[in-house]
Amino acid sequence: MPQRLYLDHAATTPVTEAVRAEMAAALASWANPSSPHAEGRAARAALEQARARICAALDWPHELLFTSGATEAIAMALSRARADALFVSAVEHDAVHRAAPNAYFVPVTKDGHVAPDALHGRLSALSAEQPLVAIQHANNETGVIQPIAALAEVVRAKSGLIFVDCAQTAGKLPLPDADMIAISAHKLGGPPGIGALLIRDLGLIAPSGGQEKGYRGGTENLPAILGFAKAMEAGRGWMARAADLRQHLDASIEAGGGRIVARSVDRIPTIASYQMPGKPSSAQLIQFDLAGIAVSAGSACSSGTLKTSRVLAAMGWEDEEAAEVIRVSFGPDTSRSDIYRFVETWQRIRG
Ligand code: PLP
Repeated sequence: MPQRLYLDHAATTPVTEAVRAEMAAALASWANPSSPHAEGRAARAALEQARARICAALDWPHELLFTSGATEAIAMALSRARADALFVSAVEHDAVHRAAPNAYFVPVTKDGHVAPDALHGRLSALSAEQPLVAIQHANNETGVIQPIAALAEVVRAKSGLIFVDCAQTAGKLPLPDADMIAISAHKLGGPPGIGALLIRDLGLIAPSGGQEKGYRGGTENLPAILGFAKAMEAGRGWMARAADLRQHLDASIEAGGGRIVARSVDRIPTIASYQMPGKPSSAQLIQFDLAGIAVSAGSACSSGTLKTSRVLAAMGWEDEEAAEVIRVSFGPDTSRSDIYRFVETWQRIRG
C-alpha cells in the first residue's frame, strides 16, 4: 500500500500536534466560563485571552464573536446585519448562498473576479439605503483572490457594508479591510466546529441574547476555542514556500497538457484547480485515491455527489470541461517531494 498523501487542505486540515496538546490540557481542566466560582472564572479568563490571542494573531483590532465555524458566522452576518438589501457574488460558498437565498447576484469575469465596475453597476441599478455586500477573500475551488480593497471602496461610496468570507485565507493572507469577516479554525490546523465572526462594531448586527456579549446563546466550546487560538498563532511563514511549490506544480501541469483554472490572476498559493482534458474528474479522483493521493473535485460538499461546479459555470466554463477539473490544496507540511509525486501520478493518469 502506498503511503497516503493528503492534498485536500481546502476541505479540512489535520489538527496540528500543538493544537491537540492545547485542547487536551483544556479538556482536563474544563469548567463553564459562565459559572461564578473560581473554576468558572479561570475558564472565562482563558476564553477572553483566547479572543485576544486570535485578534492579535490576525491583526484585527475590533470585535470577535465565537461561532461553530464559518458557516454560522456567515449566517449571523447575513441574517442579522442592519442592511436593507443583500448582494453576493456568483462564486460564493454554498454557506453564503444558503444564508442569503434572496440576495442579488453580482457576476464574475471569466477569471472569477468580481469587477469593481460590475459591482458598482449592480448597486446603482437597485437603490438601497444600506446594502450589505458579501464577497469571499479567496475562492475555495479556484483559489482566486478578490480585489477586496477596490470592492470595499465601491461599497462604502454607496454607504454599504462589506462582509468578507475569509474561511480559506485567515492565518494565510493578511485580513482584508472589511466591516465583517467570517473565519474558521479547521482550514488551518485547528479543530472542526469552531470559528468566528470578526466585526468592526457590534452595533452592525442585531443581538440575540445569551453568551458572546449577547450575540450568541450556548455554553462556549472553550477547548475548541483554545485550539483555534493555537492554530491561528502558527503564523504565515510557510506561505512563501507554498507559493514556490504551486509555481512548480502549475508549470508541470501545463507542460503535461493540463489547463490551469484562472491561470492569469492572483490565486492563494494553497489552492489550485486543473483540468485534465479527456478525463472526467470522477475517474481522476478514483485513480489518485488508489495511488494514495487525496484530492477533490470542486468543493468538498459538492464532491460527494460530483455535481457540476457552480463556480466554474459562473466563470463561463462548459459543463464537459468543468467535469474534468480537480482541486489540489496544500498545508504547512506539503513538501517538494509531495508535489513531484502528485505530478508523476497526474502524468500517469493522463496517459
Ligand atoms: N466559506 C468557504 C470559502 C469555505 O471554504 C468553507 C468551508 O468549506 C466555508 C465557508 C464553511 O466553513 P465551515 O466549515 O467552518 O462552516
